[in-house]
Amino acid sequence: MKKNDQILCNCCGKELSRQGSRYEDHLHIVKSWGYLSAQDGIVEEMDICPDCLEKWKRTFVIASEKHSQTELL
Ligand SMILES: [Zn+2]
Repeated sequence: MKKNDQILCNCCGKELSRQGSRYEDHLHIVKSWGYLSAQDGIVEEMDICPDCLEKWKRTFVIASEKHSQTELL
């Protein structure tokens, strides 16, 4: 969640660290809910810190897939 120039984790409320204009790498989700969904027309945004993401992933029944990046962004 962006608040002024801070990004707060939606799960734990922790402020993500920042160096200059770059924030600690984290999961940023923007979901535009579509037709036939219960939230049709709603755009939902959230930021999840690395610690919360790891905890969340441990609850998955099927693990996420991981691939090496051939080009670093
Ligand atoms: Zn968190």
